[in-house]
Amino acid sequence: VLQLILDSIFPKKCVGCKKYGSYLCADCIKNIHQFELICPECGQPSNGGQTHLNCRQALGLDGLWSLGLYKPPLNQAIQKLKYKWIKEISGVLTNIIVEYWARYQPFLLGEITKSGGEDWVVVPVPLHKKRENWRGFNQSALLAKDLASKLGLKYGDLLIRTKNTKSQVTLSGSDRRQNMQGAFALKLNCQLKTANCLLLDDVWTTGSTIKECCLVLKQAGAKKVWALTLAS
Ligand SMILES: [Zn+2]
Ligand SMILES: [Zn+2]
Repeated sequence: VLQLILDSIFPKKCVGCKKYGSYLCADCIKNIHQFELICPECGQPSNGGQTHLNCRQALGLDGLWSLGLYKPPLNQAIQKLKYKWIKEISGVLTNIIVEYWARYQPFLLGEITKSGGEDWVVVPVPLHKKRENWRGFNQSALLAKDLASKLGLKYGDLLIRTKNTKSQVTLSGSDRRQNMQGAFALKLNCQLKTANCLLLDDVWTTGSTIKECCLVLKQAGAKKVWALTLAS
């Protein structure tokens, strides 16, 4: 009943075409561009998003899977999730991830299901406490929890942000990396000896944030670390 009342006061509207009825309509979902995936180290096309063999770094990412490009309607959906506190969009987006993941570039999904998913854990990129308190939630944690439950994988809030970094928006690539250095740490008592991690964030820009998180996870013993983002 409460949901019905809420729906009539705040009717759901598509973030793309503004049509009423859902947060993202079927037509707009079709416009979420599934493109060639890239290697997270060199940015060049790569099968399934795997890091090219000669791009591999000891403590670097094993690959990057991204749902689509950071343009309408995906960027609008992400902005609604982050700045308008419309948390329900998280469920809509993770449904699309699950559907598209099996359909396009399923290499990573194959890796996960090969082992029955037992040794995989979905890890959100954390916000700094101050930022999270201001926003009231961490959008990446919301997505990660949702995705883990839909895929039957473990969810692990394993990282903390120890540095309240400057906004990355105005920084260049190398400044971004420097800005992020030492920004994350592993939570106490976390053991990652045999774990593989799916590191979840909303957007991949230069990758400096996710790469810094990957470093911490691999230093703690994680075997494979893949980045998974809504947009890039
Ligand atoms: Zn629409
Ligand atoms: Zn490469």
